[in-house]
Amino acid sequence: MNYLEQIENKSIHIIREAYSNFKHLAMLWSIGKDSTVLLWLARKAFFGHVPFPLVHIDTNYKIPQMIEYRDQLAMEWKLNLVYGQNEKALAEKQTFPDGNITRIECCSLLKTKALRDTLSGTGKRYKINHSTGQYDVWDNNEPFTGVIVGVRADEEGSRSKERYFSPRNVENNWEISAQPPEFWNQYKTEFAPGTHVRIHPLLDWTELNIWEYIQRENIPTVSLYYDQGEGKRYRSLGCEPCTLAVNSCAKNVDDIVEELKTGKFSNIAERSGRAQDKDDGGGLESLRKDGYM
Ligand code: SF4
Repeated sequence: MNYLEQIENKSIHIIREAYSNFKHLAMLWSIGKDSTVLLWLARKAFFGHVPFPLVHIDTNYKIPQMIEYRDQLAMEWKLNLVYGQNEKALAEKQTFPDGNITRIECCSLLKTKALRDTLSGTGKRYKINHSTGQYDVWDNNEPFTGVIVGVRADEEGSRSKERYFSPRNVENNWEISAQPPEFWNQYKTEFAPGTHVRIHPLLDWTELNIWEYIQRENIPTVSLYYDQGEGKRYRSLGCEPCTLAVNSCAKNVDDIVEELKTGKFSNIAERSGRAQDKDDGGGLESLRKDGYM
């Protein structure tokens, strides 16, 4: 078994463990390459059908092609897709793009708070209607107690401190020093009532592994990852006002795999194009402690 097959098997095992241990389970889908690989693995784990909702936090500032891709795939793969957003902050223009607050405050409202409210069921949830292709208000406000997330340990400093099964308290806060140990393939999946658990099946994957897997499986991805002739492409996707493209002439998946193998980006952080990371002291730790992905 080669390395890609090993990590694929381990991730599928973790997804199945999560499904058998958490009654109210959901998977976060940011529409980026990592969470789309995670979605692909979930489809493999359950033979083409994803038996839990996919949750997307819509900041309202995502690059439009991302939303088009999300809706197209949700219809094509019959995904049980749910989105939530911080409607109050958007209505009151309490956002960075409106010029009223800092990036960190904006991420805290449009991402962290929206995520916490959507997961807890205190915020409005919208669910795709496969007959119309539109979203209807979802009347289910049951809190999700287990949430599968596509973070990778090599992606960013605070993510390297994660466990595969990582508990959060009732406020969704993350106590980094109080995580249970995980030896070999023994995962702690029983937690006190009220605990919310983040599940991370992709911790062992690198950026190169992700692209090699996309290449091997022919997974559809957003066109923004590829150079359209201007010598630029996105290496990591996010909100339009805060995400920069990198210089690259990679026009397809094969080109990206080759480019990564050259080590061109080995000294440049994958999320270096995300302005909010810089505003958080070069990482995401303070946002993540509060419940961000
Ligand atoms: S990435 Fe930018 S637009 Fe998006 S929530 Fe953060 S500050 Fe706001």
